[in-house]
Amino acid sequence: MIDVLPIFRQSGALHEGHFRLSSGLHSSGYLQCALVLQHPVYAESLGRMLGDALRDLNPTVVLSPALGGLIIGHEVARALGVRAIFAERQEGVLTLRRGFSLSNDDRVVVIEDVVTTGGSTRETMVVARDAGATVVGAGSIIDRSGGTSSLDVPFRALATLSLPTYDPAACPLCAAGQPVTKPGSRA
Ligand SMILES: [Zn+2]
Repeated sequence: MIDVLPIFRQSGALHEGHFRLSSGLHSSGYLQCALVLQHPVYAESLGRMLGDALRDLNPTVVLSPALGGLIIGHEVARALGVRAIFAERQEGVLTLRRGFSLSNDDRVVVIEDVVTTGGSTRETMVVARDAGATVVGAGSIIDRSGGTSSLDVPFRALATLSLPTYDPAACPLCAAGQPVTKPGSRA
């Protein structure tokens, strides 16, 4: 068993400070999961833990949104002994490509690295349902929604993290005169 947040700190994946996110909002921190998942030993351990947390839902396939969900989705599927497939954007819409398919018998868990608003999880659930499968649950390494992402299936995360976001006009970090920086990538 490994402790999730120390691994994120050690890997430099949890940045705390004052950031301008791609959404335009300011935040006291952001996550870059790829810096943890670049270490296969961490990816495998996190996948096993998340797989264990979802096993009772009896999934037959893991579906992840590209790109962020691919590695952890694959590791969860390895732990559960099921397929790992992914949806990717085609003209802005998440779609199953590459010959991936789901059947009416499939019980899908949607896996992502981080859930923030739950928007991409919900979008991925629609892909599975449109393909005729049943979505039995969803999971992520980190839940940074503050418990606010309401999904209509069981949702399990290995750690929850509160990284508040602020309208720049009402940002307490700006008010304190702390310089704002831009994260390296998606926040
Ligand atoms: Zn600010």
